[in-house]
Amino acid sequence: MIDLKKQTIEERIKNLYLDNTTILYVEDEEIIRNSVARFLKRRIKEIYLATNGREGIEMFKLNQPDIVVTDIRMPIMNGLDMAGEIKTINDETPVIITTAYNDEEYFLKAIDIGIDKYIKKPINNKELLHVLVKTAKMVSQQREIDAKNEFIRTILDNNPAFVMITDGENIAFLNKSFLNYLGFSSIEEFQQKCKSINRFVVLKEESFYKGKSFSEWLNIVLSGNNKEYIVYIAGKNELKSEAKAYLVHANEIPGHNRADKYLVSFTDISPIEIDRKKYQNMACKDPLTSIYNRKKFEDELNKEIERVARYKSQLSIIIFDIDHFKQINDRYGHQVGDYILQELTALVDIHIRNTDIFARYGGEEFVVLTPETSLEGARELAEKLREKIDKYLFNHVEHVTCSFGVSEFVLDESAYIFIKKADYALYIAKNKGRNRVKVIEKEHSLVFNIQQ
Ligand code: GH3
Ligand code: MG
Ligand code: MG
Repeated sequence: MIDLKKQTIEERIKNLYLDNTTILYVEDEEIIRNSVARFLKRRIKEIYLATNGREGIEMFKLNQPDIVVTDIRMPIMNGLDMAGEIKTINDETPVIITTAYNDEEYFLKAIDIGIDKYIKKPINNKELLHVLVKTAKMVSQQREIDAKNEFIRTILDNNPAFVMITDGENIAFLNKSFLNYLGFSSIEEFQQKCKSINRFVVLKEESFYKGKSFSEWLNIVLSGNNKEYIVYIAGKNELKSEAKAYLVHANEIPGHNRADKYLVSFTDISPIEIDRKKYQNMACKDPLTSIYNRKKFEDELNKEIERVARYKSQLSIIIFDIDHFKQINDRYGHQVGDYILQELTALVDIHIRNTDIFARYGGEEFVVLTPETSLEGARELAEKLREKIDKYLFNHVEHVTCSFGVSEFVLDESAYIFIKKADYALYIAKNKGRNRVKVIEKEHSLVFNIQQ
């Protein structure tokens, strides 16, 4: 029993570390072994003894001591070979070697293995104790750090959001939910199989980072001062096109300037994104015909006019209106009228390009905006549509015709004038007897500007 009253404060601190320390001591010479063991026994928690390297390894596996102290020259297996093996089992366990003058040849190898400390032989007990206290203190501090890391890791792993720690190029950590989603069991496996951070997908229509690599995108996010971004990530069983949407938030970790500089969290917002897209879609479509509504058409028209101004490309418009639609309603009823609107829009839809913007402009009046198309091209398309409608056998009423007005956008004119020209052409088509196409030539555009 240690007499606490006789201890100095320094000794008490020393004992605090050693009291909880277990040591494996490997020494082939019995006299030395016993003498050291006797000295240490009452100062540490537990001492395990072995007489050669082979035995030392067995004892190490069995008891997992905090510190290993070993002689070098021993029969069966020497101390350095044993230390090498112990380091492969647990490279955090400090190994202290006791060296004699003639052990110099082993020094290089000792450095190679990563031997932590040396004690000269014959062993001076005071020196041994001093080295052990220092080492025990190191072990205890390392344990505290490990425990803190484990605590933080547990918090991160149990977070349903995906968490990544990165410097923008390399990924130092992914939490469990992230690894599971990607189909990896550990960060090491991820790092091995995914050489590049660009394993992730950056997909978003019309966004500034479309087509950029993930690392390029991530660097924008990291320098974005806590702004929030959306990224799409595909899990292990998903195609890129099925990737889910994540809201991304990046924070700099204070005090770090290495690979673990930023903490980036990804929150699954796919259900909200799906709803958002649904409502966005609903907001721009006409419920009866499912083609674009007037609001969407106006938005698209403004975008196209901006493009024409920038690229000096061509842009034309067709406005058409069903002839004597009121009579159809009156004769067959409103429901049949609705049905005609649906049949007619479906028919037109298959004869225009994907890049054309087709919208319901008013009750039975429609527009087709044709980017990259001259007046002549649009006139030809209008004529084709007129003929297709004229020849088509509609349910209930059989024959329906439409009148068409066409115009081409002239640089610097307003959207209003552009539409007004086509509308005027439609007015002429109606006046001339309907079921026909009329155009406003480009050189006549000025008249409309003056009239305004
Ligand atoms: P015009 O050849 O001069 O265009 O004659 P019109 O009868 O087609 O023109 P008018 O503008 O006099 O009448 C349009 C009709 O279209 C009146 C309106 O009730 C009908 N209409 C507008 N929207 C709808 C709709 O959604 N469903 C149905 N069934 N009818 C509609
Ligand atoms: Mg009409
Ligand atoms: Mg009308």
